[in-house]
Amino acid sequence: MPLEEPLFHLPAPPLPGTDWALFLDVDGCLLDIAERPDEVAVEAGLTETLACLRTRLGGALALVSGRPLAQLDALFAPLHLAAAGQHGLERRDARGHLLPTATLPDGFAAVEARLALFAERHPGMLLERKSHGLALHYRGAPACETEARRLAEALAGTCEPPLAAVPGKAVIELRVPGSDKGQAIAAFLDEPPFRGRIPAFAGDDVTDEDGFRRVNALQGHTILVGRRASAARWALPDPPALRRWLSEAAQALTPKGD
Ligand SMILES: [Mg+2]
Repeated sequence: MPLEEPLFHLPAPPLPGTDWALFLDVDGCLLDIAERPDEVAVEAGLTETLACLRTRLGGALALVSGRPLAQLDALFAPLHLAAAGQHGLERRDARGHLLPTATLPDGFAAVEARLALFAERHPGMLLERKSHGLALHYRGAPACETEARRLAEALAGTCEPPLAAVPGKAVIELRVPGSDKGQAIAAFLDEPPFRGRIPAFAGDDVTDEDGFRRVNALQGHTILVGRRASAARWALPDPPALRRWLSEAAQALTPKGD
């Protein structure tokens, strides 16, 4: 829709100051999206850049992802970054302490079994099991999108309390209610070393909009990775551009001679 194109044109963000707290989504933002979630690659040098930024920001750097914490740790090893996993249902603070997580609702196991059967019967469909949710990926079976979404939405309501059905990029997620990325960022900002800093959040997907709204309300910086309508105030075109921005930021924040 070329007529709407200018609406999506946001300027590139300024480089962070040492008084920023940086919150980063992972898939489609820090990392390029892959055919399957277990096929993503971490570019050489990215882990070092994140470690450097964490130091320069006094520890105030956290990942805010839909992935479980265990997957984030495996991707960014040897780092154990402060992180919100599963959209904030799992959270680890900057000291490495895990925070209490929500319990699974009644009916969760039955929903999982129904979706597993559906995925089994539709080649290319992938059911990802997380400790606090289920993600039905249809990137490998795009013709099944409508059916997958309808089934997931119908099953969400069979749990007590109901699961939240949240669409993403070629995925429909069913999540234990009670957290979103905005709430996860707010929880970090209540704790050292994030407290009192200017928050900045970069994300690409619709589930990042909660984070954008929260950070905008706190007069922080919101960075959309991609081009679409968004509450974000800045934008970078794709994950490689975000990685270049982070790398420039790390260099700019490093004192000369270090
Ligand atoms: Mg993402």
